[in-house]
Amino acid sequence: MKIYRNISALITPIGKSALRGTAMRRNVMTVRNACMIVDDRGTIIDAGSEKEIGGRTFEEEIDCKGLLALPGFVDSHTHAVFMGERSSEFCMRAEGKSYQEIAAMGGGIRSSVEHVRNSSATEIADYSQKFVRNALSLGTTTMEIKSGYGLSAESEIALLEAAKRVGELTGMEVLRTWLGAHAVPAGKKQSLYVQELVSEQLPEVIGRHAAEFCDVFCDEGYFTNDEAEEICVAARAAGLKIKLHADELADTSGAALAVKLGSYSADHLLKISDAGILALAGSDRTVATLLPITALCIRSAYAPARKMIESGCAVAVATDCNPGSSMSENMQLAISLAVIGMGMSPEEALSAATLNGAAAVDRASTHGSIEKGKRADFALYDIPSLSYLPYHIGVSDIAAVVKNGRIVSGIL
Ligand SMILES: [Zn+2]
Repeated sequence: MKIYRNISALITPIGKSALRGTAMRRNVMTVRNACMIVDDRGTIIDAGSEKEIGGRTFEEEIDCKGLLALPGFVDSHTHAVFMGERSSEFCMRAEGKSYQEIAAMGGGIRSSVEHVRNSSATEIADYSQKFVRNALSLGTTTMEIKSGYGLSAESEIALLEAAKRVGELTGMEVLRTWLGAHAVPAGKKQSLYVQELVSEQLPEVIGRHAAEFCDVFCDEGYFTNDEAEEICVAARAAGLKIKLHADELADTSGAALAVKLGSYSADHLLKISDAGILALAGSDRTVATLLPITALCIRSAYAPARKMIESGCAVAVATDCNPGSSMSENMQLAISLAVIGMGMSPEEALSAATLNGAAAVDRASTHGSIEKGKRADFALYDIPSLSYLPYHIGVSDIAAVVKNGRIVSGIL
């Protein structure tokens, strides 16, 4: 048993499920002069004021030196294992080319596929681990990682194995998502590829226990709603949980489909309709996962976060870390953009980056907040208040990151 003492303020959302609407702000608690008691398995035994719970000695006492504690970020949408970089596309976009135009020129997802197909799982993990290590040092303690740059049974499995390996190499808790339906491989007919996903890739993923979730890029120019439904229904029947890329490039009623499929999240939602917002507000499971760094990079308007929150949706924020449209593993930047670009309050953005991110990966009962019974995943910052986090744009004031009760990055 150990105690983390001398925390100037402990700020955390409270709950074991996603916070919806006004609760995203209301259910954020601040305790001044706080401490946290953690058992040997990394579970929080108690968290609160020194006065109330800190009045005895412990085997190990850690002085947090007056730093401010926030829950570790749960980055619930990333493509953080890949090969090769695409900075030339970044420049083309800056000059005005669209995501679709770049894809048509041979860039986009397919260019990453070429790099991945020429690499082993070990090579992919070696290349990608630096991004995941960065994320950990920037306060992310749980990260969802998708495949989707292999687009064949063999290469998708290599990516999912690389994701597992990256977790072992870095200490990040990695949750894996099979995204075989990210794009159609060059030279293959779309309908045949959908059949291949269901009859070849899915059984391989299940047989190797390679993923917990299935995701589909359901959007204009990618997979149709009918195709997404066919793939997700098969994946669900095989035991995978569902996530969905939805309404990013066009409104295709993807959000409503996500709710219908019992998806844990509908992600992107840049073009979501009012009907889509209503569907998400009425769901007791599907989290609206917003990816503001992507909106910034593809020069799109941000998702209508205010409207979603005011309608009662549960909103999460994630990085979408990937080599094409969001080359960043920095959740604090996503939080800054959530505040600056989407009009969220710092409290709402914190709930979105922690507890609601955990709900988007079915971990809200154990992760995403600093509460009795949850994992001791948190970070300590040299900042005077929560609002200082989004305010200090692009710079981290993080001092140490704690995963399962142990300091895994930084020093105290
Ligand atoms: Zn994505």
